[in-house]
Amino acid sequence: MINGVIDRQGKEWKIEQAIENSVEIGFPKSFIRAAVRFGQRDWSGKAHPTDIINCPRQAALKYTTDYPIILDRTVDAMIGTSMHRFFENGENSYANVRVSNELITGEMDLLEIVNGEGIIYDFKVVKSFPVKKALGFYKEDEPILDEDGNVVLLKSGPRKGEVKTRSVTKQDLAHRDVVTYTRQLNMYRYLFETGDDIEPNVLQKSYIIEGLIVMQLLKEAGRTAAQNGIIHSSYAVPIPIVSNKNVATFIQDRAVPINDFMRGGELPGIPDCPQDVWEGRLCRDYCPVKDFCAKYGNNQYL
Ligand code: SF4
Repeated sequence: MINGVIDRQGKEWKIEQAIENSVEIGFPKSFIRAAVRFGQRDWSGKAHPTDIINCPRQAALKYTTDYPIILDRTVDAMIGTSMHRFFENGENSYANVRVSNELITGEMDLLEIVNGEGIIYDFKVVKSFPVKKALGFYKEDEPILDEDGNVVLLKSGPRKGEVKTRSVTKQDLAHRDVVTYTRQLNMYRYLFETGDDIEPNVLQKSYIIEGLIVMQLLKEAGRTAAQNGIIHSSYAVPIPIVSNKNVATFIQDRAVPINDFMRGGELPGIPDCPQDVWEGRLCRDYCPVKDFCAKYGNNQYL
C-alpha cells in the first residue's frame, strides 16, 4: 500500500504530513491525494496485465508492503489515464472495456470497431526516446556529397583525408522495440477473444481483433525530440499480434505466481530475462519496493 510520497528533492513524507505541507512540497493537496489514489492498486483477487509485463515480484510486493511513491513520476500516467477517462461509449466505440479470465483481469483503454473488425487502443504519455524505439528510428552516418555527387573529404585535423559524414535519422521496422506494448495489448486481445467476463457484456466475443495500436502522446517537443526524428505530438504505433498459445503461456507463467503468493504462497522470483528489469535499472532506479526485494537476498541487480 502507498503510505507516503517523495518530493522533487527526494524527501519522503507520510501522506497526511505531505498534504499539510503541500506548498513546501510544491504540489497542491488535491494532486497529492489524487496521485496516491491513482497509484494505489488494491488486490482484486487476480493479477492484472500491467502486473506481469515486467516484474511479477514487484507487483506482489506492492500489493502487500507499504511503500512511498515519487510524485513527479505519477504525472505521465495520470495524464494518459485522464485522456481515456474522457472517452465515452459511442457507436462502434467502447472505452475502458473490462476483460478477464480465471487467472487475470484488466481494462483496455479503448476498443473501436472498423468495418466489422476490432482495434484495441492503449494510450501512453512518453518522452521522445520510447517513440524512437517503438517506431524503429535510428541514427546512421552518411557521406556528404558535393554538387557533382562525389564524397567530400576532410581537409584538416587528425582525420584529414577521411570521408566527411553527417548523422541522419532513418527508420527500419526491424529496429523496433515494442516488447512491453506487445505483451500488454496481446493480453487484452486474448482476454477479449477467449475470456469469460467482458464488461460491457454486449461486446461478449462479438468481434475478432485485427488491430492493436499504442497511441504515444509526446510530452517532449523541440530540439531533443527532433534530434530523435520525432516531429509530431502523437504517434499511432501498430503492435504485432502474437499467437493465443504464446499469450496463454505468458499469463500462466507470470500471473499464477502472483495469484499463489496472494493466497499465502511464495514470493515470485526475479524475472529470468534481464530485459524485463531493464538490465537492472528497474531494480536500482525505479522500483519502489526494492528494499523489500533486497531482503530476500537473491537479486543480483541490487
Ligand atoms: S527490485 Fe527488481 S526484481 Fe525486485 S521487485 Fe523490484 S523490479 Fe522486481
